Amino acid sequence: MKPTATKNSLSPNPLKKELYEVRESPVHGTGVFAAQKIKKGERILQYTGERISAKEGDQRYNDEISDRAFVLLFTVSKNTVLDGAVGGSDAKYINHSCDPNCEAVLDKKRVYIEAVRDIEADEELNYDYAFERDKGDDGSRDALYACHCGSSKCRGTMLVAAKKPNSKEALKKMKKDFRKEMKKDLKKLKKDLQKDAKKKLAKAKKELKKAAKKQTKASKKKKK
Ligand SMILES: [Zn+2]
Repeated sequence: MKPTATKNSLSPNPLKKELYEVRESPVHGTGVFAAQKIKKGERILQYTGERISAKEGDQRYNDEISDRAFVLLFTVSKNTVLDGAVGGSDAKYINHSCDPNCEAVLDKKRVYIEAVRDIEADEELNYDYAFERDKGDDGSRDALYACHCGSSKCRGTMLVAAKKPNSKEALKKMKKDFRKEMKKDLKKLKKDLQKDAKKKLAKAKKELKKAAKKQTKASKKKKK
């Protein structure tokens, strides 16, 4: 049972009413709804689940077999996903919308669902799943990811074009790569120089020895 405290509660210290509730959605299966007014920017709940590699996620849910994959897997990074089916919070029930009232925010490797605008009580919560299209996407998965969110901004699909690398990030990476390359080059140069110097030193030593030998020979001759 959810706490029943209301705005008009006479209790001097009412329990904070739950922000959301889970029930059947007119959009798709089970949905999550605002149980009271939610302010823009408010953190509503955390998306939890087993933290696994993207590869394992793919193995657990094959698109062709199960259309549940995108409902349960949340991509945290290129290599990490959360499987909401394993110990996941109610966030896994939040449906997709092309014109959402929430967004998924990454904070210290944790995922939170936050309101992007003021939300009225009883409104269904949603965020843009924005699944990136795979490279060389031939459109064969489009039917699986079709969107029926009903918003005027509906793209008709939960998929989005693959993200172009952020120019700032790309520059940072370029700089890093350049530095790495320079370091490598410098190391090699140092090594080569050392090798060269060693060779020269050995040669000089040899020459010195030879000269010394000549000298002793010459002095011996003189003595005779
Ligand atoms: Zn849509």
